[in-house]
Amino acid sequence: MELATGGAVNQMSILVLNAGSSTLKYALFDDAANTELAGGVIDWHDSDSSATFHFRTSGNEDSHTTVGSSDYRGAVNEILDRLTANGINKPVKAVGHRIVHGGPALNQPVLIDDRVCEELKQISTLAPLHNPPALAAVKAARKVFPGAVHIAVFDTSFYSTLPRHEVVYPLPYQWFEEYGIRRYGFHGISHAYCAKRAAEILKRQDDPNLRLIICHLGNGCSATAVRGEQPVATTMGFTPLEGLMMGTRSGSIDPGILLHLMEQHDMKGDHLDEILNRQSGLLGISGVSSDFREVEQSAIAGHKRASLAIEMFATRIRSAIGAFAVTLGGIDALIFTAGIGEHSQTLRSRVCAGLQALNVLLDENKNRESSADSDIAHADSTSRILVIRTQEEHSIACASQRFLTDLC
Ligand code: ADP
Repeated sequence: MELATGGAVNQMSILVLNAGSSTLKYALFDDAANTELAGGVIDWHDSDSSATFHFRTSGNEDSHTTVGSSDYRGAVNEILDRLTANGINKPVKAVGHRIVHGGPALNQPVLIDDRVCEELKQISTLAPLHNPPALAAVKAARKVFPGAVHIAVFDTSFYSTLPRHEVVYPLPYQWFEEYGIRRYGFHGISHAYCAKRAAEILKRQDDPNLRLIICHLGNGCSATAVRGEQPVATTMGFTPLEGLMMGTRSGSIDPGILLHLMEQHDMKGDHLDEILNRQSGLLGISGVSSDFREVEQSAIAGHKRASLAIEMFATRIRSAIGAFAVTLGGIDALIFTAGIGEHSQTLRSRVCAGLQALNVLLDENKNRESSADSDIAHADSTSRILVIRTQEEHSIACASQRFLTDLC
């Protein structure tokens, strides 16, 4: 069932789907991608047979209910039913899908057809937490919205201009040429948005010398150094496993550890994959949770490994900031975004506590009272510190809208 049929073109809408391993974020925009009409998340973290359905419309509080859907097809149908029940009947003319890894060939938004689905399937192993659920959501949405144009928008696209010396790993060069072993970079939709928004806030749009370090700290975490609005270095690599410590992912570790475990403890690839992607990071160290809030609460209650996890998490972010400050030759603004970056004043405070050497100085009062898209730097700081609310779904809607315009 479509939302409705036969509406005038200007009454149509763009649906955005952003699938994670146990969540499906969604947002519906008007056909110019200017206004969000409704949005929310379906979350089946806590149960195999039911999900929590969060739904908001403009001007209304977020409501949540428990629903029976346990797969993407059911989830997409729930979204459609909820929109219809709330009188949001604009036909969906396009569905923009967030795809984390585009592999070597897909680095611009593309029309999703069977060939693209097959290509996404081929590269699924490069982003095992992200591409398989995204593909499942694509398949579900193509069934539920057969008349819509389905567009894939990639996290990797933003990094297509990364300098060669950042792209190539210090491994035999043939591995780059023959096996395609290279840095891709991820969270590009969020980093691109934050770079643009920071330039607006600082009133330095179109300034090619603007030096930004963006820390996207959610379940997945990455930092990117940006000059002007172009990325020059980033912490994630061939897969979204490299770089900062994350909720369940290790981030960078000595590759010798893996060789040791394979040789001395007979560990196989799939076991290591499970440990590195799903059992490490905040969860692996704290033993409490992958959720930063829960780790933070445990640390406050005196849980030693929770405290260790947070200190490790902050230390690695500081190290990345230090390295990128050198890469950029200074910092005009340090940006915190995504769930932890936007909401945890204590984490921001811990990270900035090590940055006095760079004269990046936090104002603790502003940090405590920060709101979205605000500057929390001390007046004496030589660089601004911005908290930005990332807008991945809106960015995907805009990219889908531009794609449709180019198509016509
Ligand atoms: P995703 O990568 O799935 O999009 P989010 O950007 O939603 O993730 O971030 C999820 C993380 O943000 C979780 O670790 C969560 O604990 C953390 N988070 C959300 N709200 C807060 C808060 N108020 N204080 C600290 N951490 C928070």
